[in-house]
Amino acid sequence: MNKLKMASEKSASRVLMLLSQLERLNEEPKVSDNDAIRQTTGKILHLIQTQEKTRKEVASKSSGGMEIILSSLENTQDLQTTLNILAILNELLTVGGGCRTGVFVSKGGTALLLQLLVGSSKDPPANEELMLHIHSLLVKVGLKDRKLGVKARLNGALNVTLNLVKYNLQNHKLLLPCLQVLRVYSSNLVNAVSLGKSGTLEIMFEIIGPFSKKSTTLLKVALDTLASLLKSGMNARRAVDRGYLPTLLTIYQDWHRNDTRHRHVVIRKSILGCIKNLTNIKLGRKAFIDANGMRILYNTSTECLPVRTLDPLVNTSSLIMRKCFPKNRLPLPTIKSVFHHPLLHIPASGPVAKLYNQPPGVDDVVDESDENEATEVDTENDTEYDEDETGPKTQNDDIETDINKLRPIQMNTRPFDELRAYEYFFREFSENFELHRPIIIPTTPSSLGPQNRRPPQEDLLTPKPDESPLELDSISISKRPEGTSDPDLVCSLGRLVLDAGVNGGSVDGPQDEGGEQAVLEVPDTAALLPLHDPDLYLEMVKSTRSVPAYTEVGYPDYFGHVALNLREPILERVYGVQRMKIFQDIERLIHPSDILDKVVYDLDNQSCPVTDNGESLKFNSKFESGNLRKAIQVRKFEYDLILNSDINSNHYHQWFYFEVGNMRPGVRYRFNIINCEKSNSQFNYGMQVLMYSVQDAINGSPHWVRTGSDICYYKNHFSRSSIAAGGQKGKSYFTLTFTVTFQHKDDVCYFAYHYPYTYSMLKMHLQKLSALRTAQIYYRQDDLCVTLGGNSCPLLTITAMPGSSSNDPISQFRSRPVVFLSARVHPGETNSSWVMKGTLEYLMSCSPQAQSLRESYIFKIIPMLNPDGVINGNHRCSLSGEDLNRQWQNPNAELHPTIYHAKSLLQYLRATGRTPLVFCDYHGHSRKKNVFMYGCSIKETVWQTNVNTSTCDLHEDLGYRTLPKLLSQMAPAFSLSSCSFVVERSKEATARVVVWREIGVQRSYTMESTLCGCDQGKYKGLQIGTSELEEMGAQFCLALLRLKRFTSRLERHNHNSHLLDMETDLIETRSIPNITSPTTYVLEEDEPAFLEEVDYSAESNDEIDPDLEPDLQDNHKSFS
Ligand SMILES: [Zn+2]
Repeated sequence: MNKLKMASEKSASRVLMLLSQLERLNEEPKVSDNDAIRQTTGKILHLIQTQEKTRKEVASKSSGGMEIILSSLENTQDLQTTLNILAILNELLTVGGGCRTGVFVSKGGTALLLQLLVGSSKDPPANEELMLHIHSLLVKVGLKDRKLGVKARLNGALNVTLNLVKYNLQNHKLLLPCLQVLRVYSSNLVNAVSLGKSGTLEIMFEIIGPFSKKSTTLLKVALDTLASLLKSGMNARRAVDRGYLPTLLTIYQDWHRNDTRHRHVVIRKSILGCIKNLTNIKLGRKAFIDANGMRILYNTSTECLPVRTLDPLVNTSSLIMRKCFPKNRLPLPTIKSVFHHPLLHIPASGPVAKLYNQPPGVDDVVDESDENEATEVDTENDTEYDEDETGPKTQNDDIETDINKLRPIQMNTRPFDELRAYEYFFREFSENFELHRPIIIPTTPSSLGPQNRRPPQEDLLTPKPDESPLELDSISISKRPEGTSDPDLVCSLGRLVLDAGVNGGSVDGPQDEGGEQAVLEVPDTAALLPLHDPDLYLEMVKSTRSVPAYTEVGYPDYFGHVALNLREPILERVYGVQRMKIFQDIERLIHPSDILDKVVYDLDNQSCPVTDNGESLKFNSKFESGNLRKAIQVRKFEYDLILNSDINSNHYHQWFYFEVGNMRPGVRYRFNIINCEKSNSQFNYGMQVLMYSVQDAINGSPHWVRTGSDICYYKNHFSRSSIAAGGQKGKSYFTLTFTVTFQHKDDVCYFAYHYPYTYSMLKMHLQKLSALRTAQIYYRQDDLCVTLGGNSCPLLTITAMPGSSSNDPISQFRSRPVVFLSARVHPGETNSSWVMKGTLEYLMSCSPQAQSLRESYIFKIIPMLNPDGVINGNHRCSLSGEDLNRQWQNPNAELHPTIYHAKSLLQYLRATGRTPLVFCDYHGHSRKKNVFMYGCSIKETVWQTNVNTSTCDLHEDLGYRTLPKLLSQMAPAFSLSSCSFVVERSKEATARVVVWREIGVQRSYTMESTLCGCDQGKYKGLQIGTSELEEMGAQFCLALLRLKRFTSRLERHNHNSHLLDMETDLIETRSIPNITSPTTYVLEEDEPAFLEEVDYSAESNDEIDPDLEPDLQDNHKSFS
């Protein structure tokens, strides 16, 4: 080592000279050198212990000191030399340890130590000092060498350390470092199993015990070791068998009682850590319940609550209690939807066949066998585990990587003859307008179109009028007795009933003072809501066909909703709200006698009248879009609510809309919707539910308002049947809880997931819109088809009448590009209807821009792709029990008529050379904020997948980015950074992807509007309201107008030039947020799934023990 010699000559440092001496001795080992080596190492040790700088010199890379020392350690047979060297290493690694330990590990020090350990244990009794040195070094190594556990096992060192612990229980000086090493060993699962078999659990229980101020460090290490061991299912079972669970509870209580000044919170937390791991197995949970664990942890936690520093204890206790809370079945006879709609044709492999073909006796409410077996299997998988190895499932596994599936397909599988029937819906292309005369455009609802107004296959599906369960003629509105001409309505229990002319005698509704019969004033909203008319609404309801044959009308839909002229900020989450709610839930188990469990509303058992002592709230949701199935009064002011599943389905619960009456003002009512399915919700991030008060409406405030406090959304103890969870066992439902204080006595209030927008409301709006026609506006309404439920699906055509100024107005008219819009394929996404309303109103307005827009395009609009779902209160599906936005690849004319015919329209357009310029399907997003778009781009998809980038030379027109870019400049709620243009595999059958690939629409989008609010732009920090949603719809129109300028420029440049700065924009897209694959089986979004940092789950997370490392370091200083 020349370097070394030079260094030694230069500094003439004594320690370096000694090192070089040692090196020489290592090179030519002779027996006679033993003394010399012993002396040299002794001198080095002395220098290191007395002179700070010598440590640095020895440890410095240039000196090569570490290698020399390790080499001596390897070669020596002499005990004293070994002890000297170990002492040197201990000194070196104690101060400024991290880096030096790293060098030590990298030079193979770990293996040397372990060999030394095993070797010297062969002839007992082992030298105590030697063992002390080795273990204290191993503790330090354990912080750096993640493979220490594995290496120890392979070297046969586990039992050496264990035996030392076993035989030195009273010798704390040696016990502590050995135990610390054992803790490191047992963090490896294979080691844990092996150590468990060798009796380590029993030994730990000899160390841990009741409260004592002595040996707390030792105790903490023993508890942490135990907790690690209990991660193995085998060890956990062994511990339960030996009755350790009640012991741990007793020890915990003892520390809780005696540690009055909270000096030993870490120890208390460690005890809970053991209980937590023990209750990962079913047997452990049972033992916990049997040992009265619920009550013990509940009581101790309640006492800890006032002290904020004890939060870790409360949180871990809460986690354990939630885990052990006995799983319940939902209190329902079946989770199949209450209402069944018979289908003419049930495909054998479809969801409906599966649903109704279950063998008798299969309980679809809960699987008896499934209790968290999944987690148990995991913990029993005694294989090598490395925390890093269980990394996240590859984030991009949903991205389409098959380039052939990204290329447009040029297929015209349908002969044009078949599409010819759709000519009817494009009459504007063939009509001969006679100018200078008033023109009436026939619209199907109000006038009889041609005989072939529907494609022939529809007629089969059109139900005969006599099939209707509701005799339309027999419906009349319960009006005030004759003699009065005002539009007041008699209110029957606060409900608006369409009945057979008889009032049913139930006229004891909202009572004013002294009056039994109250008359409701209809709020005069005509000026504020030009598209709303209560009488017209009732007319529309009469022709709406619902599966349950609803005869009632929700007041908010009847009165109308005027957007609130008030800012509604996104709520800040109250600290500890979830914990508080969970504790209240746990109290149900602790104090069962407090629980009423009184069913107050039950669609499954309608014949059984609910006894009414006037103390309970009254619920109802038997009106369009309503979907409450059952309400149970749990406590005096607390109700569990169960939502109905989508018709012909057994899941998809998220949307809700129901009515509440008979409330007491000024009282805090807690509502829990207990069968939600999504794994997280914006309700955890400041979103509130919507409430509509009939009293307020009558008093001049007909608004849906954001309401509720103490809102949170968390996993509950109602287990989900694997039948409804895609075969996944051990899944639970989620609870949405909110608290409301009502303002008025005898009010009737409505609650909804989002601003309701019914099918009848759409029909009313369309009728009002058609009345806005002027001589300049071409507006036509057709029935695209009839749905499974017998409702018509409106199709609108809006453009400008042929101008007279142009040379050839008719030809200009016919050459306008088509813009194709749709909305509300998902019934629970009512926000998409409000955006659509904004679009429609804008298109029918008389501003010059609107006229210019109409002159630029022909709009084909299907404002509600899933009328049946909307009417029947579904969240996701149509009456076929399927998500219609997964049927675009191969829609079935009978089962998915709206999709089948919508796609046919697009195919017709393509076949006739009129492929739309823009296609956009409006949706709502439950987990993200703002409004944004998803589009389709081959290049951006390929970039995300890291697939061979040579495919990037694909030519792709960048025009798909123009519209979102324009929207981000114009619409305050719109966020470009949330947009994505990646094609996902799971979305290959959605409208956006199919219209892009099969129809060849380059600008094919899903536009997603938040249910919650915005975190950027003008509305930052505010919850979204209908006026913002409608504004979005109008801004979309304006953006299309600007797009016109871009596209006409494109036309002039003959499609070859790229747009302006669009290239540079594209570069930005590389930073589009990562796409994660959907985490839940059901209710997947139409977009990459998204989870924010979840503070709601923070309470159930295993945090890294922050005191672990300092603890280790400190102990070591005091020892060495
Ligand atoms: Zn959707």
